[in-house]
Amino acid sequence: MTSREIRSKFLDFFESKSHIIVPSAPMVVKDDPTLMFTNAGMNQFKEYFLGNKPVKHHRITDTQKCLRVSGKHNDLEEVGMDTYHHTMFEMLGNWSFGEYFKKEAIEWAWELLTDVFQVDKDILYVSVFEGDASEDLDRDTEAYDIWKQFVSEDRIINGNKKDNFWEMGDQGPCGPCSEIHVDLRSSEEKAKVSGASLVNQDHPLVVEIWNLVFMQFNRKADKSLEKLPAQHVDTGMGFERLCMVLQNKQSNYDTDVFTPLIREVEAVTKTTYGNPGSSGEKVDIAIRVISDHLRAVAFSIADGQLPSNTGAGYVIRRILRRAIRYGFTFLDTKEPFIYKLVATLSKQMGDAFPELISEKNLITNVIREEEQSFLRTLDQGLVLLENVIETADSKTISGKKAFELYDTFGFPIDLTALILRERGYELDTKGFEKELQKQKDRSRAATKVETGDWEILSDDAVEEFVGYDTLVTTVKITRYRKV
Ligand code: ATP
Ligand code: MG
Ligand code: MG
Ligand code: MG
Repeated sequence: MTSREIRSKFLDFFESKSHIIVPSAPMVVKDDPTLMFTNAGMNQFKEYFLGNKPVKHHRITDTQKCLRVSGKHNDLEEVGMDTYHHTMFEMLGNWSFGEYFKKEAIEWAWELLTDVFQVDKDILYVSVFEGDASEDLDRDTEAYDIWKQFVSEDRIINGNKKDNFWEMGDQGPCGPCSEIHVDLRSSEEKAKVSGASLVNQDHPLVVEIWNLVFMQFNRKADKSLEKLPAQHVDTGMGFERLCMVLQNKQSNYDTDVFTPLIREVEAVTKTTYGNPGSSGEKVDIAIRVISDHLRAVAFSIADGQLPSNTGAGYVIRRILRRAIRYGFTFLDTKEPFIYKLVATLSKQMGDAFPELISEKNLITNVIREEEQSFLRTLDQGLVLLENVIETADSKTISGKKAFELYDTFGFPIDLTALILRERGYELDTKGFEKELQKQKDRSRAATKVETGDWEILSDDAVEEFVGYDTLVTTVKITRYRKV
């Protein structure tokens, strides 16, 4: 089954259960001071959960573009290292606003996976919230009793607050949840250790795919929990992980969501993905980072968030620079190339996300310019670092020198450390951190000035009808020019 078919099958299934299909909200959040990027499908429905907005349709389904690079859910460091966390990913979801609850949510999730998608029941584990005395929260025996009808009890795992109590951020709607995990190990491996003991242990082949959240509380600013006016269901399934399961792969990057991008990176950089050997692993990580980050950056730009030096724009710039640096260091790319992948991405995902087609030129141009300017920085930084090494009077390079490179020339500190290590030198990390802290203190004292380095040429906000009258998305069409 192709990823396209998987996405539509999910939506069709919930449509057949009287859900209305709505489009994804933008990934870049403009009107919520508690959140920079959409990190889950439920974000756009926050006001319904809180009872601040009248609900017209009580059952909704969609695929939501999410970005987890900041705040409570930050997966950036995992991306590329593992094979199932992305910066940008799609979250498939179904919602009940004050209507059905645990019974239907669990029954339908089970029906979709095992009946419609024909997932082998023997690879599935589920979890329930074990309760938490410090917050006076009970164990979710209700969910346990429903799961028992479908799954043998040795496959129902108790989960703690970290894994089985879902919270969007420090504030907002939250509640206990039940998760569905898959065990994709070989039967040989399964015979050695039970999958139950590997759930939530960061095992690359025992992976969470779906989270069914039973939204019952609101976390207030003072951290206390208050009961919501009604009970809701909020589910989120990682689309790329579901594709991995249904396409019989052991990595999200081996599904057709990523393979066209990876083939393109291989062709453009003349490297090979999946080559064993000592440098092979580094090359693989770099290729995963680049194909992942390209998606995050392309979707952000399509949503009107361009790279800049402040706020959300800075986060996007750093993601892109991370990709450029991985290419520079491990794929030996000294010329811009990431922008070339935009065509493949927009061809592959443009039907589900038409903004990738309409904004294709903008995305391509912005990425190419960013690549050019950061590669120049890297080149200059290398020359300066060479100078530092040549004039060094000991094998330890001072934190102050490294900080100068970082602060004045934008040369990434981990690259400095890497090069120094390769040349038999050491970096005084403590000294560097001290300088960094000093700078933070200085900028905290100074007044904050918001300056992006992309000038807005026109900024037309268009109200677009997207399904029915209570859910109206404002689509911003913005043109930019680099200044
Ligand atoms: P994990 O424990 O694997 O980090 P999570 O518990 O943080 O996942 P949820 O917040 O429950 O994830 O989100 C719902 C679903 O979204 C998960 O079950 C998973 O399939 C998917 N998901 C979460 N984070 C990512 C990510 N960084 N990349 C891809 N899919 C993700
Ligand atoms: Mg997580
Ligand atoms: Mg989890
Ligand atoms: Mg989860």
